[in-house]
Amino acid sequence: MKKLRNLILILGDQLSEELDVLKDVDKKNDLIVMAEVLHESTKVASHKMRTAVFLSAMRHFAEKLKEKKYQLIYLSLSDQKKFKSFNEAISFVLTNYSFQKILVTEPGEYDVFEEVRTIAKTFKLTLEIKTDNTFLSNKRDFSAYAEGKKQIRMEFFYREMRKKYSILMDGKDPEGGEWNYDQENRKSFKKEGPGKVPFLDLKKDSITEEVLTLVNDLFKDNPGSTEEFNWPVTHTEAKKLLDFFIKNLLPHFGDWQDAMWTNEAFLYHSRLSVALNLKLLTPMEVIKAAEQSYKKGHVSLASAEGFIRQILGWREYVRGVYFHFMPEYISRNFLKADEDLPPLYWNAKTEMNCMRDVVTQTMNFGYAHHIQRLMVTGLFSLLYGVRPTDIHQWYLAVYVDAVEWVELPNTLGMSQYGDGGVMASKPYIASGKYISRMSNYCKGCKYSPEESTGPNACPFTTFYWDFIRKHQTLISKNPRLAMQVKNWQKLGSDKQKEIELTAKNLRKNIKRGNI
Ligand code: FAD
Ligand code: SF4
Repeated sequence: MKKLRNLILILGDQLSEELDVLKDVDKKNDLIVMAEVLHESTKVASHKMRTAVFLSAMRHFAEKLKEKKYQLIYLSLSDQKKFKSFNEAISFVLTNYSFQKILVTEPGEYDVFEEVRTIAKTFKLTLEIKTDNTFLSNKRDFSAYAEGKKQIRMEFFYREMRKKYSILMDGKDPEGGEWNYDQENRKSFKKEGPGKVPFLDLKKDSITEEVLTLVNDLFKDNPGSTEEFNWPVTHTEAKKLLDFFIKNLLPHFGDWQDAMWTNEAFLYHSRLSVALNLKLLTPMEVIKAAEQSYKKGHVSLASAEGFIRQILGWREYVRGVYFHFMPEYISRNFLKADEDLPPLYWNAKTEMNCMRDVVTQTMNFGYAHHIQRLMVTGLFSLLYGVRPTDIHQWYLAVYVDAVEWVELPNTLGMSQYGDGGVMASKPYIASGKYISRMSNYCKGCKYSPEESTGPNACPFTTFYWDFIRKHQTLISKNPRLAMQVKNWQKLGSDKQKEIELTAKNLRKNIKRGNI
């Protein structure tokens, strides 16, 4: 058995040479192990695109490590020996080598933490878990910030982060005098739509082509398609996408951040989440690029601030929430939602234009932008009452950027109010009228966003009122929602009964896949 010093584990979303585990590597006595495992794509049947992006990015990173002459074992799904789990793959290595220590960067999923701990225990090895230094806040600091607070609002956390890193600051004050320019950011497109939005095509190389063949062979029954593969899988490509975004899209990002349009998946969004989550880019690299663009006068303060807030604020904040509240967070179900996830989330078979468009694009690209996730698929699930664990598994499965630390708080907390108000100060409820205002989906839809009853009743609008009926006691305690309860009461008992009945019938139809 070969004796070595450290076993360095690099997980699929830790593809950065900046990570502390790769500092001070002894290239003769340390062995890096990377493993592709079946379980990652099958524990919830992952979108083929998601698996393909992860595997291609991992293989590219492994090539880079090999070029730099690190000792590396790369356990691939193309090999004869396909490892079902991470544990199985690492155990295979540990039976052939002896080490003094296992080194790993803190994983982005609570269960993987536990798995690594179990492996170290089984093989009686010291385990050193290194802080993920690509993030701008660490778990300890976040917990210290959160401890004892009734509500941990993103806005205040974000202000602290701005001060800490001196981003968009004018001395001690925020640049331009305000911390947040959201009120300038919520526009919708006029009748003529967005026009031609610039888009960067990323070419597939032979590594990606090989991965696509493998994924379509091994996971042919998994959801989604890889036809439209167009994701960065190396630092170079991610940087190209960042530069393209800063130059062509960021100037309009703020204006159209919340807008939606049929057959327009990306609009002015950056598509950078997957590069950030796999660590192909560091958040500071992205934030600095946006800040520089503002300083040079290329973009407005509202656009730069709106974008930077997503990364320096939301992204860091949700990670803090995840680790502060896990492991119990994942089983929260504050609203006691108990419906199964409707089949239309997988097959897009629905006459609701908005849901069909967002689910179809999700299956084609493994992508939907934030408002599509929050105010279409997320809103529908919230109003219909899907169990938070079920909708969480869907989001984790279908998006290329899905890693549990970021997906879970966004889904269970922000979108489903399953955590009872940790992430959001109120449930994000709205009727079809919101979707009508922010998109062109309602044009030509079988349903009418104005109507809550009758043959053309928009399911969003009916379920919106039915949600208020169902959760009246809870909602009336929230001053920001009290008006909506009053509006429900104003409808009168006949209309209320009609809405309740319409909602009941809609539920039956949704379960039958007939809506
Ligand atoms: P842009 O609109 O260009 O935003 C820029 C960047 O800001 C993103 O790349 C992302 O890194 C960051 N960001 C923006 N909003 C958030 C947020 N709420 N939380 C964390 N980071 C944010 N994001 C993921 O990265 N992975 C997920 O699995 C994920 N699941 C989500 C599930 C739901 C129900 C909701 C409502 C949101 C989810 N988000 C998730 C957040 C957000 O929707 C995506 O980060 C964004 O749509 C990615 O597209 P983009 O890179 O074009 O983002
Ligand atoms: Fe969606 Fe309702 Fe608009 Fe149809 S009418 S697109 S279901 S919001």
